Amino acid sequence: MKKFKRSIVAIVLIVGMLLSMNQTTVYAKTNVYEKPIVIVLDPGHGGHDSGATCYWGGRWYREKTLNLAIAKACKAKLEQYAGVQVHMTRSSDYFVTLGGRVRYAKDRKADIFVALHNNASFSRKMNGVSVYYPNINYNTKVGKEGRNAASYIQKELVSLGIKNNGIHYRNTENGSKYPNKSKSDYYSVIRQSKLSGFPGLIVEHAFVSNSSDCSKFFSSADKLKKLGEADAKGLAKYYGLVEKDTPVLKSAQADEDGNVHLQWDAMDEMDGYRVYRRAQGVFSYTKIATIRDESETDYVDKTTKKGTTYYYMIAGYHNGRKKVTYTDASNIVKVTALETLYTPQNLKVTAEQGTVQITWESTEHTDGYIIERKTANDADYQMVAKVEGADITSYTQDNNVTTADYRICSYRKYGKKVYQSKFSEIVTCQL
Ligand SMILES: [Zn+2]
Repeated sequence: MKKFKRSIVAIVLIVGMLLSMNQTTVYAKTNVYEKPIVIVLDPGHGGHDSGATCYWGGRWYREKTLNLAIAKACKAKLEQYAGVQVHMTRSSDYFVTLGGRVRYAKDRKADIFVALHNNASFSRKMNGVSVYYPNINYNTKVGKEGRNAASYIQKELVSLGIKNNGIHYRNTENGSKYPNKSKSDYYSVIRQSKLSGFPGLIVEHAFVSNSSDCSKFFSSADKLKKLGEADAKGLAKYYGLVEKDTPVLKSAQADEDGNVHLQWDAMDEMDGYRVYRRAQGVFSYTKIATIRDESETDYVDKTTKKGTTYYYMIAGYHNGRKKVTYTDASNIVKVTALETLYTPQNLKVTAEQGTVQITWESTEHTDGYIIERKTANDADYQMVAKVEGADITSYTQDNNVTTADYRICSYRKYGKKVYQSKFSEIVTCQL
Protein backbone atom coordinates (compact mmCIF):
# COMPACT_ATOMS: atom_id res chain seq x y z
CA MET A 1 0.00 0.00 0.00
CA LYS A 2 3.08 2.19 -0.10
CA LYS A 3 1.96 4.03 -3.17
CA PHE A 4 -1.15 5.44 -1.53
CA LYS A 5 0.65 6.97 1.37
CA ARG A 6 1.67 9.78 -0.93
CA SER A 7 -0.65 12.69 -0.56
CA ILE A 8 -2.10 14.90 -3.21
CA VAL A 9 0.88 17.13 -2.57
CA ALA A 10 3.01 14.71 -4.55
CA ILE A 11 1.35 15.27 -7.88
CA VAL A 12 1.02 19.01 -7.30
CA LEU A 13 4.72 19.09 -6.62
CA ILE A 14 5.59 17.11 -9.72
CA VAL A 15 3.33 19.00 -12.06
CA GLY A 16 4.47 22.20 -10.39
CA MET A 17 8.04 21.26 -11.15
CA LEU A 18 7.10 20.55 -14.72
CA LEU A 19 5.34 23.88 -14.93
CA SER A 20 8.23 25.83 -13.58
CA MET A 21 11.12 24.21 -15.39
CA ASN A 22 11.93 22.46 -18.58
CA GLN A 23 10.59 18.99 -17.90
CA THR A 24 13.07 17.28 -20.18
CA THR A 25 15.73 17.75 -17.53
CA VAL A 26 13.54 15.88 -15.04
CA TYR A 27 12.40 13.02 -17.21
CA ALA A 28 15.09 13.17 -19.83
CA LYS A 29 15.32 9.55 -20.77
CA THR A 30 12.43 7.35 -19.83
CA ASN A 31 11.85 4.41 -22.05
CA VAL A 32 9.81 1.28 -21.81
CA TYR A 33 11.22 -1.96 -23.07
CA GLU A 34 9.31 -4.90 -24.49
CA LYS A 35 11.65 -7.42 -22.88
CA PRO A 36 13.13 -6.88 -19.45
CA ILE A 37 16.69 -5.52 -19.29
CA VAL A 38 18.91 -8.26 -17.86
CA ILE A 39 21.58 -6.88 -15.55
CA VAL A 40 24.20 -9.22 -14.10
CA LEU A 41 25.96 -7.87 -11.02
CA ASP A 42 29.31 -9.40 -10.20
CA PRO A 43 30.50 -8.84 -6.63
CA GLY A 44 34.27 -9.17 -7.06
CA HIS A 45 36.40 -11.79 -5.27
CA GLY A 46 34.94 -14.16 -2.63
CA GLY A 47 35.88 -17.26 -0.66
CA HIS A 48 39.68 -17.71 -0.39
CA ASP A 49 40.13 -14.57 -2.51
CA SER A 50 39.51 -11.61 -0.20
CA GLY A 51 40.57 -8.93 -2.67
CA ALA A 52 42.10 -5.78 -1.25
CA THR A 53 42.25 -5.93 2.54
CA CYS A 54 43.21 -3.18 4.99
CA TYR A 55 42.97 -2.49 8.70
CA TRP A 56 41.79 0.98 9.71
CA GLY A 57 40.44 2.40 12.92
CA GLY A 58 40.32 -0.96 14.70
CA ARG A 59 38.55 -2.96 11.99
CA TRP A 60 39.26 -4.92 8.85
CA TYR A 61 37.99 -3.82 5.47
CA ARG A 62 37.83 -6.80 3.11
CA GLU A 63 36.98 -6.09 -0.49
CA LYS A 64 35.00 -9.32 -0.99
CA THR A 65 32.65 -8.36 1.86
CA LEU A 66 32.28 -4.74 0.78
CA ASN A 67 31.62 -5.76 -2.84
CA LEU A 68 28.90 -8.22 -1.83
CA ALA A 69 27.12 -5.69 0.39
CA ILE A 70 27.21 -3.12 -2.41
CA ALA A 71 25.90 -5.65 -4.94
CA LYS A 72 22.99 -6.68 -2.71
CA ALA A 73 21.97 -3.04 -2.21
CA CYS A 74 22.29 -2.43 -5.94
CA LYS A 75 20.08 -5.42 -6.76
CA ALA A 76 17.41 -4.39 -4.22
CA LYS A 77 17.30 -0.87 -5.64
CA LEU A 78 17.23 -2.03 -9.28
CA GLU A 79 14.29 -4.30 -8.49
CA GLN A 80 12.24 -1.26 -7.58
CA TYR A 81 12.17 -0.43 -11.29
CA ALA A 82 9.84 -1.94 -13.85
CA GLY A 83 11.16 -4.01 -16.75
CA VAL A 84 14.40 -5.18 -15.21
CA GLN A 85 15.80 -8.58 -14.25
CA VAL A 86 18.81 -8.70 -11.93
CA HIS A 87 21.18 -11.63 -11.31
CA MET A 88 24.27 -11.92 -9.14
CA THR A 89 27.29 -14.08 -9.95
CA ARG A 90 27.59 -14.88 -6.23
CA SER A 91 25.22 -14.20 -3.37
CA SER A 92 27.44 -15.12 -0.44
CA ASP A 93 31.10 -15.62 0.43
CA TYR A 94 32.38 -18.15 -2.10
CA PHE A 95 34.85 -18.13 -4.95
CA VAL A 96 33.86 -17.94 -8.62
CA THR A 97 36.39 -17.88 -11.47
CA LEU A 98 36.47 -14.88 -13.78
CA GLY A 99 35.44 -17.07 -16.73
CA GLY A 100 32.63 -18.57 -14.66
CA ARG A 101 31.29 -15.13 -13.85
CA VAL A 102 30.98 -14.07 -17.50
CA ARG A 103 29.59 -17.47 -18.56
CA TYR A 104 26.92 -17.06 -15.87
CA ALA A 105 25.99 -13.72 -17.43
CA LYS A 106 25.99 -15.14 -20.95
CA ASP A 107 23.73 -18.03 -19.88
CA ARG A 108 21.25 -15.49 -18.56
CA LYS A 109 21.37 -13.47 -21.79
CA ALA A 110 22.74 -10.43 -20.01
CA ASP A 111 22.37 -6.97 -21.49
CA ILE A 112 25.20 -5.78 -19.28
CA PHE A 113 27.74 -7.23 -16.84
CA VAL A 114 28.73 -4.99 -13.96
CA ALA A 115 31.64 -6.08 -11.76
CA LEU A 116 31.58 -4.35 -8.38
CA HIS A 117 35.00 -3.80 -6.84
CA ASN A 118 37.02 -1.51 -4.66
CA ASN A 119 40.47 -0.21 -5.32
CA ALA A 120 43.78 -0.40 -3.51
CA SER A 121 47.14 1.24 -4.00
CA PHE A 122 50.56 1.15 -2.36
CA SER A 123 50.16 4.88 -2.05
CA ARG A 124 47.82 5.22 0.90
CA LYS A 125 46.93 8.72 -0.27
CA MET A 126 45.14 7.55 -3.41
CA ASN A 127 41.39 7.77 -3.17
CA GLY A 128 38.31 8.12 -5.37
CA VAL A 129 36.04 6.35 -7.83
CA SER A 130 36.57 5.18 -11.40
CA VAL A 131 34.69 2.91 -13.77
CA TYR A 132 36.31 0.78 -16.49
CA TYR A 133 34.49 0.15 -19.75
CA PRO A 134 35.33 -1.76 -22.97
CA ASN A 135 37.42 -0.20 -25.74
CA ILE A 136 35.92 0.31 -29.21
CA ASN A 137 38.49 -1.79 -31.11
CA TYR A 138 36.12 -4.67 -31.63
CA ASN A 139 32.32 -4.71 -31.43
CA THR A 140 32.24 -0.91 -31.34
CA LYS A 141 28.58 -0.83 -30.34
CA VAL A 142 29.30 -2.75 -27.14
CA GLY A 143 32.22 -0.41 -26.43
CA LYS A 144 30.07 2.67 -26.85
CA GLU A 145 27.21 1.29 -24.76
CA GLY A 146 29.66 0.41 -22.01
CA ARG A 147 31.20 3.86 -22.03
CA ASN A 148 27.80 5.49 -21.82
CA ALA A 149 26.60 3.26 -18.96
CA ALA A 150 29.91 3.81 -17.13
CA SER A 151 29.47 7.57 -17.27
CA TYR A 152 26.01 7.34 -15.71
CA ILE A 153 27.28 5.18 -12.85
CA GLN A 154 30.32 7.38 -12.30
CA LYS A 155 28.14 10.46 -12.10
CA GLU A 156 25.92 8.96 -9.38
CA LEU A 157 28.90 7.81 -7.31
CA VAL A 158 30.61 11.19 -7.59
CA SER A 159 27.41 12.79 -6.34
CA LEU A 160 27.96 10.94 -3.03
CA GLY A 161 31.11 12.98 -2.52
CA ILE A 162 33.67 10.45 -3.77
CA LYS A 163 36.63 11.95 -5.60
CA ASN A 164 36.14 11.70 -9.37
CA ASN A 165 38.96 9.72 -10.99
CA GLY A 166 37.09 9.47 -14.28
CA ILE A 167 35.98 6.59 -16.47
CA HIS A 168 38.56 4.63 -18.44
CA TYR A 169 39.23 1.78 -20.82
CA ARG A 170 42.45 -0.19 -20.61
CA ASN A 171 44.02 -2.07 -23.49
CA THR A 172 45.89 -5.32 -23.10
CA GLU A 173 49.55 -5.15 -22.16
CA ASN A 174 50.45 -8.66 -23.34
CA GLY A 175 49.55 -8.36 -27.04
CA SER A 176 46.29 -10.30 -26.87
CA LYS A 177 43.95 -9.61 -29.78
CA TYR A 178 40.27 -9.58 -30.63
CA PRO A 179 39.14 -11.71 -33.61
CA ASN A 180 39.60 -8.66 -35.89
CA LYS A 181 43.30 -8.49 -34.83
CA SER A 182 42.77 -5.32 -32.77
CA LYS A 183 44.15 -4.88 -29.25
CA SER A 184 41.87 -6.54 -26.73
CA ASP A 185 40.74 -5.12 -23.43
CA TYR A 186 43.08 -5.63 -20.48
CA TYR A 187 40.54 -6.87 -17.95
CA SER A 188 39.40 -10.43 -18.45
CA VAL A 189 35.74 -9.88 -17.52
CA ILE A 190 35.48 -6.88 -19.85
CA ARG A 191 37.15 -8.78 -22.70
CA GLN A 192 35.07 -11.93 -22.23
CA SER A 193 31.85 -9.92 -21.89
CA LYS A 194 32.56 -8.20 -25.18
CA LEU A 195 33.28 -11.53 -26.84
CA SER A 196 29.91 -12.70 -25.47
CA GLY A 197 28.17 -9.69 -27.02
CA PHE A 198 27.45 -7.41 -24.06
CA PRO A 199 29.34 -4.62 -22.31
CA GLY A 200 31.28 -5.47 -19.16
CA LEU A 201 32.07 -2.77 -16.63
CA ILE A 202 34.26 -2.70 -13.54
CA VAL A 203 33.20 -0.21 -10.91
CA GLU A 204 36.02 0.70 -8.49
CA HIS A 205 33.93 2.50 -5.92
CA ALA A 206 36.66 3.82 -3.64
CA PHE A 207 40.03 2.83 -2.09
CA VAL A 208 40.23 0.20 0.63
CA SER A 209 43.83 1.38 1.09
CA ASN A 210 42.74 4.92 1.93
CA SER A 211 41.58 5.50 5.51
CA SER A 212 39.40 8.46 4.57
CA ASP A 213 37.54 6.55 1.81
CA CYS A 214 37.03 3.68 4.26
CA SER A 215 35.56 5.81 7.00
CA LYS A 216 33.47 7.93 4.64
CA PHE A 217 32.08 5.22 2.37
CA PHE A 218 32.64 1.71 3.82
CA SER A 219 32.32 2.06 7.59
CA SER A 220 28.63 1.20 7.94
CA ALA A 221 25.98 -0.92 6.26
CA ASP A 222 24.14 2.25 5.41
CA LYS A 223 27.15 3.75 3.64
CA LEU A 224 27.66 0.61 1.56
CA LYS A 225 23.97 0.63 0.69
CA LYS A 226 24.35 4.16 -0.65
CA LEU A 227 27.11 2.98 -2.99
CA GLY A 228 24.98 0.11 -4.33
CA GLU A 229 21.99 2.37 -4.77
CA ALA A 230 24.08 4.89 -6.66
CA ASP A 231 25.19 2.11 -9.04
CA ALA A 232 21.52 1.16 -9.48
CA LYS A 233 20.42 4.73 -10.12
CA GLY A 234 23.14 5.16 -12.73
CA LEU A 235 22.06 1.99 -14.54
CA ALA A 236 18.38 2.96 -14.26
CA LYS A 237 19.12 6.36 -15.77
CA TYR A 238 21.19 4.82 -18.54
CA TYR A 239 18.36 2.43 -19.47
CA GLY A 240 15.65 4.98 -18.71
CA LEU A 241 13.90 2.64 -16.27
CA VAL A 242 10.67 3.71 -14.60
CA GLU A 243 9.99 2.95 -10.94
CA LYS A 244 7.49 0.17 -10.41
CA ASP A 245 4.87 2.10 -8.50
CA THR A 246 4.85 4.68 -11.25
CA PRO A 247 2.51 4.09 -14.20
CA VAL A 248 4.12 3.08 -17.45
CA LEU A 249 2.88 4.77 -20.60
CA LYS A 250 3.70 2.12 -23.19
CA SER A 251 2.93 3.93 -26.41
CA ALA A 252 1.46 6.98 -28.07
CA GLN A 253 0.66 6.48 -31.73
CA ALA A 254 -0.73 8.82 -34.31
CA ASP A 255 -3.35 7.53 -36.75
CA GLU A 256 -4.08 8.89 -40.24
CA ASP A 257 -7.05 10.90 -38.94
CA GLY A 258 -4.69 12.90 -36.77
CA ASN A 259 -5.78 11.29 -33.46
CA VAL A 260 -3.30 9.96 -30.92
CA HIS A 261 -3.80 6.55 -29.27
CA LEU A 262 -2.29 6.09 -25.81
CA GLN A 263 -1.73 2.73 -24.14
CA TRP A 264 -0.50 1.98 -20.65
CA ASP A 265 0.00 -0.95 -18.31
CA ALA A 266 -2.79 -1.66 -15.84
CA MET A 267 -1.82 -0.99 -12.23
CA ASP A 268 -3.10 -2.70 -9.11
CA GLU A 269 -5.58 -0.98 -6.84
CA MET A 270 -6.17 2.09 -8.98
CA ASP A 271 -9.55 3.74 -9.38
CA GLY A 272 -8.59 5.40 -12.61
CA TYR A 273 -6.07 7.45 -14.51
CA ARG A 274 -5.46 11.00 -15.55
CA VAL A 275 -3.97 11.89 -18.90
CA TYR A 276 -1.75 14.95 -19.26
CA ARG A 277 -0.48 16.58 -22.42
CA ARG A 278 1.68 19.45 -23.53
CA ALA A 279 2.41 20.71 -27.02
CA GLN A 280 6.00 21.21 -28.10
CA GLY A 281 7.14 24.69 -27.17
CA VAL A 282 4.69 24.90 -24.24
CA PHE A 283 6.17 24.14 -20.86
CA SER A 284 3.10 23.25 -18.85
CA TYR A 285 1.13 20.03 -18.90
CA THR A 286 -2.64 20.18 -19.03
CA LYS A 287 -4.94 17.43 -17.86
CA ILE A 288 -6.91 16.40 -20.93
CA ALA A 289 -8.86 13.44 -19.54
CA THR A 290 -9.80 11.57 -16.39
CA ILE A 291 -10.55 7.91 -16.92
CA ARG A 292 -12.76 6.68 -14.09
CA ASP A 293 -12.24 3.01 -14.69
CA GLU A 294 -9.27 1.05 -13.39
CA SER A 295 -9.57 -1.57 -16.13
CA GLU A 296 -9.29 1.01 -18.89
CA THR A 297 -5.73 1.10 -20.22
CA ASP A 298 -6.02 3.18 -23.35
CA TYR A 299 -7.26 6.54 -24.49
CA VAL A 300 -7.73 8.22 -27.86
CA ASP A 301 -6.94 11.91 -27.93
CA LYS A 302 -9.17 13.44 -30.62
CA THR A 303 -8.40 17.02 -29.66
CA THR A 304 -5.03 17.27 -31.36
CA LYS A 305 -4.01 20.00 -33.74
CA LYS A 306 -2.80 18.11 -36.77
CA GLY A 307 0.91 18.30 -37.35
CA THR A 308 1.65 19.36 -33.77
CA THR A 309 4.12 17.43 -31.64
CA TYR A 310 2.83 16.48 -28.21
CA TYR A 311 4.24 15.02 -25.00
CA TYR A 312 1.93 12.76 -23.00
CA MET A 313 2.10 11.35 -19.50
CA ILE A 314 -0.39 9.75 -17.15
CA ALA A 315 -0.88 9.34 -13.42
CA GLY A 316 -2.97 6.79 -11.56
CA TYR A 317 -5.33 7.82 -8.75
CA HIS A 318 -6.98 6.10 -5.84
CA ASN A 319 -10.09 7.28 -4.02
CA GLY A 320 -9.14 7.09 -0.37
CA ARG A 321 -11.55 7.46 2.52
CA LYS A 322 -10.84 11.14 2.93
CA LYS A 323 -8.96 12.20 -0.15
CA VAL A 324 -7.74 11.16 -3.54
CA THR A 325 -4.13 10.08 -3.80
CA TYR A 326 -2.09 10.09 -6.98
CA THR A 327 0.88 8.14 -8.18
CA ASP A 328 3.92 9.88 -9.58
CA ALA A 329 3.65 10.91 -13.18
CA SER A 330 4.57 8.21 -15.70
CA ASN A 331 7.31 8.35 -18.27
CA ILE A 332 6.69 10.79 -21.09
CA VAL A 333 6.00 9.76 -24.67
CA LYS A 334 6.39 12.09 -27.61
CA VAL A 335 4.30 11.89 -30.76
CA THR A 336 3.37 14.11 -33.69
CA ALA A 337 -0.28 14.21 -34.77
CA LEU A 338 -0.32 13.57 -38.48
CA GLU A 339 -1.78 15.68 -41.23
CA THR A 340 -2.16 14.41 -44.75
CA LEU A 341 -0.70 16.81 -47.26
CA TYR A 342 -1.93 16.30 -50.79
CA THR A 343 0.08 16.80 -53.95
CA PRO A 344 -1.54 19.34 -56.30
CA GLN A 345 -2.81 17.65 -59.47
CA ASN A 346 -2.98 18.60 -63.13
CA LEU A 347 0.03 20.92 -63.34
CA LYS A 348 0.15 22.79 -66.65
CA VAL A 349 2.88 25.09 -67.86
CA THR A 350 2.54 27.20 -71.04
CA ALA A 351 4.83 29.89 -72.37
CA GLU A 352 4.05 32.88 -74.56
CA GLN A 353 5.48 36.36 -75.12
CA GLY A 354 8.09 36.30 -72.41
CA THR A 355 5.83 34.94 -69.68
CA VAL A 356 5.17 31.48 -68.33
CA GLN A 357 1.65 30.64 -67.21
CA ILE A 358 1.45 27.90 -64.54
CA THR A 359 -1.84 26.37 -63.39
CA TRP A 360 -2.89 23.51 -61.12
CA GLU A 361 -5.86 22.19 -59.15
CA SER A 362 -6.29 23.30 -55.55
CA THR A 363 -5.96 20.77 -52.71
CA GLU A 364 -7.26 20.54 -49.13
CA HIS A 365 -5.28 21.03 -45.91
CA THR A 366 -2.85 23.46 -47.36
CA ASP A 367 -1.57 26.97 -46.71
CA GLY A 368 -0.32 27.36 -50.25
CA TYR A 369 1.92 25.99 -52.99
CA ILE A 370 5.59 25.90 -53.85
CA ILE A 371 6.59 25.92 -57.53
CA GLU A 372 10.06 24.86 -58.57
CA ARG A 373 11.84 24.61 -61.89
CA LYS A 374 15.08 23.33 -63.30
CA THR A 375 16.71 24.61 -66.48
CA ALA A 376 19.58 23.01 -68.35
CA ASN A 377 21.94 25.31 -66.40
CA ASP A 378 20.66 24.32 -62.94
CA ALA A 379 22.17 21.49 -60.94
CA ASP A 380 18.96 21.11 -58.98
CA TYR A 381 15.44 22.53 -58.75
CA GLN A 382 15.13 26.21 -57.79
CA MET A 383 12.08 27.76 -56.20
CA VAL A 384 10.13 29.92 -58.64
CA ALA A 385 7.40 31.01 -56.26
CA LYS A 386 5.77 30.33 -52.91
CA VAL A 387 2.10 31.06 -53.44
CA GLU A 388 0.09 31.75 -50.27
CA GLY A 389 -3.55 30.68 -50.21
CA ALA A 390 -5.18 27.31 -50.73
CA ASP A 391 -7.59 28.63 -53.36
CA ILE A 392 -5.02 30.14 -55.68
CA THR A 393 -4.48 27.91 -58.73
CA SER A 394 -2.32 29.91 -61.10
CA TYR A 395 0.92 31.81 -61.23
CA THR A 396 2.47 33.91 -63.97
CA GLN A 397 6.20 34.06 -64.22
CA ASP A 398 7.62 36.82 -66.37
CA ASN A 399 11.31 36.48 -66.91
CA ASN A 400 13.77 35.22 -69.49
CA VAL A 401 11.85 32.28 -70.77
CA THR A 402 13.81 29.14 -71.44
CA THR A 403 13.07 25.46 -71.66
CA ALA A 404 12.67 24.06 -68.14
CA ASP A 405 11.16 21.30 -66.02
CA TYR A 406 8.49 22.41 -63.54
CA ARG A 407 7.00 20.76 -60.48
CA ILE A 408 4.70 21.81 -57.63
CA CYS A 409 3.87 20.79 -54.07
CA SER A 410 1.53 22.06 -51.36
CA TYR A 411 2.83 23.23 -47.97
CA ARG A 412 1.53 23.82 -44.51
CA LYS A 413 2.99 25.79 -41.62
CA TYR A 414 2.92 24.46 -38.07
CA GLY A 415 4.51 26.98 -35.75
CA LYS A 416 7.84 27.77 -37.31
CA LYS A 417 8.04 24.57 -39.30
CA VAL A 418 6.88 24.18 -42.87
CA TYR A 419 5.73 20.73 -44.01
CA GLN A 420 5.59 19.96 -47.73
CA SER A 421 3.61 17.40 -49.70
CA LYS A 422 5.31 15.21 -52.27
CA PHE A 423 6.11 17.01 -55.50
CA SER A 424 3.90 16.56 -58.54
CA GLU A 425 5.05 14.86 -61.72
CA ILE A 426 7.43 16.96 -63.75
CA VAL A 427 6.04 19.07 -66.59
CA THR A 428 8.46 20.29 -69.23
CA CYS A 429 7.85 23.72 -70.75
CA GLN A 430 9.42 23.88 -74.18
CA LEU A 431 10.03 26.89 -76.36
ZN1 LIG B 1 38.79 -6.20 -6.74
